[in-house]
Amino acid sequence: MKQRLLLAPTLREAPSDAEVVSHQLLLRAGYIRQVAAGVYHYLPLGRRVLRKLEEIIREEMDRIGAQELLMPAIQPTELWQASGRYEVYGPELIRLQDRHGREFALGPTHEEVVTTLIGQEISSYRKLPLTVYQIQTKYRDEKRPRFGLLRGREFLMKDAYSFDIDEEGLDAQYWSMHNAYHRIFTRAGLRYLAVEADAGAIGGEGDTHEFMALTDIGEDTIVTCSSCQYASNLERAYAGAEQHASQEEQALEPPLAEARAFVPPMEQVSTPQVKTMEELMQFFKQEAKQMIKTMIVVADGKPAAVLLRGDHEMNETKVKNALQANELELADEDTIIRVTGAPHGFAGPVGLQVPVLIDAHAAGLREAIVGANQVDAHLRHVVPGRDFALPQVGDYRNVAEGDPCPRCEGTLQFQKGIEVGHIFKLGKKYSEPLHAAFLNEQGREQTMTMGCYGIGISRLLATCAEQLNDANGLTWPSEIAPFQVHIIPVSIKDDAQRDACEQLYAKLTAQGVEVLLDDRDERIGVKLKDADLIGIPLRIVCGRDLAEGLVEVKKRTEADKRLFSIEEAMQEAL
Ligand code: ATP
Ligand code: MG
Ligand code: MG
Ligand code: MG
Repeated sequence: MKQRLLLAPTLREAPSDAEVVSHQLLLRAGYIRQVAAGVYHYLPLGRRVLRKLEEIIREEMDRIGAQELLMPAIQPTELWQASGRYEVYGPELIRLQDRHGREFALGPTHEEVVTTLIGQEISSYRKLPLTVYQIQTKYRDEKRPRFGLLRGREFLMKDAYSFDIDEEGLDAQYWSMHNAYHRIFTRAGLRYLAVEADAGAIGGEGDTHEFMALTDIGEDTIVTCSSCQYASNLERAYAGAEQHASQEEQALEPPLAEARAFVPPMEQVSTPQVKTMEELMQFFKQEAKQMIKTMIVVADGKPAAVLLRGDHEMNETKVKNALQANELELADEDTIIRVTGAPHGFAGPVGLQVPVLIDAHAAGLREAIVGANQVDAHLRHVVPGRDFALPQVGDYRNVAEGDPCPRCEGTLQFQKGIEVGHIFKLGKKYSEPLHAAFLNEQGREQTMTMGCYGIGISRLLATCAEQLNDANGLTWPSEIAPFQVHIIPVSIKDDAQRDACEQLYAKLTAQGVEVLLDDRDERIGVKLKDADLIGIPLRIVCGRDLAEGLVEVKKRTEADKRLFSIEEAMQEAL
């Protein structure tokens, strides 16, 4: 490629709203441009890196026998209704109507669509196990799109889905995916960690791991042990530690201590005035959206009812256990009320778990709600800061740095990470409601056992940029670099230099090397600055030394420049 015509507009300064290095560099080096919040163009350089990442992923998916297909981005919302996710997915789901008034959604993930497809097409155990994947644009109306490609509203994902006869089959698929993910992220040159994630938050009990790139700007907190291999995300570490509520917490006056025994406070939310049960439900369902999973209604200083976001089994189990252990006293089990389905599936918003305490003076739920229906009555007895930590990642109640490791004698350490991949065992979560079944060896109908496996490819691109850079720009490893070699004449107007560069360019290109030739009529200083910014791994500068048949060769990540004959430079570049 000749640089004069390449659409790679470099910028001296990054726009002021670009907060993180990857966003700044991808803009400055001409890899991406913004169209709207969380929506980007991938310019040719960005597209090339994206394709490199796609190819790595394809190779590793194909290697483990996954089959590539492509599903539509536009999905009829009936499928979401059938799976029970329509209600709970919340405002991240972008909904639209066709001219006949039929409702569709722009796919944030594809469990519904793929489960329906496989359920229709596969009917015998002989066709299982089956794993399919696609590389496709996803849509999520994120509350806070930010950090450039790291949290987009339109982004590129690889999503894979496995269908097995039973749990044992799923287990094998799961771990083979796990290994494939290790190969993918290693090849991409990433520093990362696979951590145990919390299945509860996504509505299952099965294994789940997140692949976290290590960087200080990550929005997730990773908990690792100083001496063993333990690594989890914070929610998971919390789930492990919650059994052992601290004395300090136990000393909290009831009902707060009781309430807090099973829900981690993260954010203070005030409820609106509600007059009826329906209104309360409405609030819980609509207003609070995915923020709230559990709401405790307190009457006469005692928890009177617990509202759960639907089939969030873990919360329900917790509430029931708390009831059984007499940690929580409610009128009866009926006062555990399911409001909507839970966020689940790997696109499911991992909702904040927020206990909202509605204090009231009358016994009984209906009265409690009416009693609570006074301005500012909703959060009585709640001391912000004491009862509700402000919403900061790392603020989970029971887990702190230096705490004992749940597996060994070591202590826990925190670090920040970016979730670049997420795998989990879904079991029958989708195959049951969407009727994906097959006839087993005995001729009996059996529901398929599923897993799903995502990688945010555009997020991965930005994550690599975040880790792979220096003060002058990007420093791509050759496996994902947009070009392998950057040839730069000191002056394109110098005939000898231009001819030598053109020849080298032609020869290397003929050998299949991806070469960028800077044929712009620019000062050498400008060209070298741009070259550093763009970050191609090997640079060949053709200048004065050409008189002796020599060119200057430099690796992007090394300081020293070496003078090579053109033939040696060729060898270096191959
Ligand atoms: P997050 O916790 O960052 O919101 P998620 O858990 O909602 O991500 P998944 O549903 O697990 O995401 O989707 C699979 C992968 O898609 C994630 O591991 C991540 O790499 C990527 N991804 C998710 N949301 C976005 C986004 N808004 N922009 C870019 N990539 C994303
Ligand atoms: Mg998300
Ligand atoms: Mg997540
Ligand atoms: Mg996830």
